[in-house]
Amino acid sequence: MFIDYHTHHARCGHAVGELEEYVKKGIEIGLAQIGLSDHMPLLHVDPATYLPEMAMPMEELPRYVEECLALKEKYKGQIDVRVGLEGDYIEGCEEQIERIVKAYPWDYVIGSVHFLGEWDITDFRQTAGWEGKNKLAVYEQYYDAVMKAAATGFYDYIGHIDVIKRFGFKPDEDVTHLENAALEAVKKHGLAIELNASGLRTPVKEMFPSRRMLDYAYELGIPLTIGSDAHQPERLGQYLEEARAALKEVGYTQLATFNCRKIMLIDF
Ligand SMILES: [Zn+2]
Ligand SMILES: [Zn+2]
Repeated sequence: MFIDYHTHHARCGHAVGELEEYVKKGIEIGLAQIGLSDHMPLLHVDPATYLPEMAMPMEELPRYVEECLALKEKYKGQIDVRVGLEGDYIEGCEEQIERIVKAYPWDYVIGSVHFLGEWDITDFRQTAGWEGKNKLAVYEQYYDAVMKAAATGFYDYIGHIDVIKRFGFKPDEDVTHLENAALEAVKKHGLAIELNASGLRTPVKEMFPSRRMLDYAYELGIPLTIGSDAHQPERLGQYLEEARAALKEVGYTQLATFNCRKIMLIDF
């Protein structure tokens, strides 16, 4: 069974294509389920003065959910549309995040750390943020945020759990203990993770997470789903064949799917 649980669309400003184009593409490439998971609106920085094209404006959120639900209905029988949100974890914004998580009938909410303070470590326009920083300290701050995200109870799974490596900035020191602690927090709080194949098209040229982390996730018994993180309809399902092959090598035989925030494992 083929699924893709991580997708974006034009509303966020840095993706192209309407939601329906992704759904139609999903049918075309034979997906049984497509998860729509656009970015949560910005909460802790002012969209008017921050860099443009980061996420949908807050007033779009209800329309996004309505459109997702309409597509779920419209394409019933052809593809299973799951309504999701890539919810940022931002320390200090827990109340606002919780309000959004509770306000809509999500099938799933991804917990992703993009921001360390006002710095979006996943934004190619902001790589200068690394200049003059102690890389190990940045990694520590990042994984600390991931562990806090896991503990909130807001999310169903952690997105691209080692995305901090995205632009190839890595400390000289070993960070295995940080990665393992993050996975142990995921396990402790009963969450899943995703294998996000989009890492292959970023400077680090490696999926999120690494093979080593996948092995440890498997050892811990952490459920896992997969996603392309497509920001263009053509990229839906991209590298997911490689992702599934990697998972089979690790030992995974099932993938996590989400319906009304309940996890269900399916064979793949
Ligand atoms: Zn995005
Ligand atoms: Zn993300």
